[in-house]
Amino acid sequence: MWPFRIKHPSSPPQDDDLIANFRLNFEMYFGFATFLLLSPYVINHLLQHRFIMSGLTFAIVLLASGNSLSIFRHRQQIIPFAYFFTLILTVLTAGLILQGGTIIYWYYPFAFIVLSIAEHRQARVMLVLSILVFVPAVFLTIDAGIAARFSVTYLMVCIFGDIVVRLLDKAQTQQALLTLTDPLTGALNRRSFLSTLGDAAEGCRREIGSASLVAIDIDHFKEVNDTLGHKAGDEALKNIVKTLLMRKRKLDRLFRTGGEEFIVLAHNIEPGESIAFADSLRVAVEQANILNGKVITISVGIADYNTEQSIDEWIRQADANLYEAKRRGRNRVWPPYFSRESILSAEKAQAD
Ligand code: GH3
Ligand code: MG
Ligand code: MG
Repeated sequence: MWPFRIKHPSSPPQDDDLIANFRLNFEMYFGFATFLLLSPYVINHLLQHRFIMSGLTFAIVLLASGNSLSIFRHRQQIIPFAYFFTLILTVLTAGLILQGGTIIYWYYPFAFIVLSIAEHRQARVMLVLSILVFVPAVFLTIDAGIAARFSVTYLMVCIFGDIVVRLLDKAQTQQALLTLTDPLTGALNRRSFLSTLGDAAEGCRREIGSASLVAIDIDHFKEVNDTLGHKAGDEALKNIVKTLLMRKRKLDRLFRTGGEEFIVLAHNIEPGESIAFADSLRVAVEQANILNGKVITISVGIADYNTEQSIDEWIRQADANLYEAKRRGRNRVWPPYFSRESILSAEKAQAD
């Protein structure tokens, strides 16, 4: 699959990068903080001859610090968080049995760390598991009154923490939607176009696939506005985007790059096929009911990426071809598309 950062809003844009980045940073600081805060405990447990607790705490410090260093240097974890979760859950439960009730103060930050580092659904499962382990363990080891108060407050931290994370995730998704898409049509905007194009070109250079730009401009659109009004023009833009979204292939991206200008980034498409694909977009718009039966057409310029090109040259080539399609009479693609039937009938005419 392509290394695209952005998903089209028809499947909501998951700019997971931001959240994933936050979680990774948090995990890094968690490791460093663990080193600073828990190292004294390792020594203290040792001095008090609590060798099991010392060993277990030392394991947490060692793994968390190593993990943080790896994130700091290579932006990559060496240990999945699920392992930390299991280890810390074990240490916190063992601590309760070996040391008594004072350890329950650590349970609350533990819930907070789980919510901050683990992916949301995974965090939920982990919190439920922690409740299932902590609550009976606390009731079995300490005074029932304190155990009951702990259970209620721990449950509250988990539930409210979960609600806050869910709200933040939702706000983040909406923010991504606003910054990446055009509010009128829902197509991706020019800003996402420029960042996605860089990834696409990089993919081609690393021979992960091929990519083509299909630049689209609506024909005589001023006339639509002048005769039917700006509102009708807006409606036409929305319907054209709907038509293009239905016709494009699943992983292609549709961008609104200007007022009535669009670009489809098609990838993993053979050079010859991009022309047929572009023509199928043209035909789809021509045949769709865009505005109360009024026929609206588009002109299309195609540019297959070649690895010698800069991004600017690639866009310029698509624009130049679009200009050529306009110059040659509009409602056409450039380079021109010859259907199988038209080639066969031309060959037949030549033979006759
Ligand atoms: P051509 O065939 O040469 O492309 O002719 P055209 O009339 O389409 O000319 P051009 O591409 O320059 O059209 C730009 C027009 O698009 C100008 C403006 O009225 C209209 N337009 C741009 N953005 C919007 C928009 O958001 N809503 C509406 N309704 N019209 C827009
Ligand atoms: Mg235009
Ligand atoms: Mg136009």
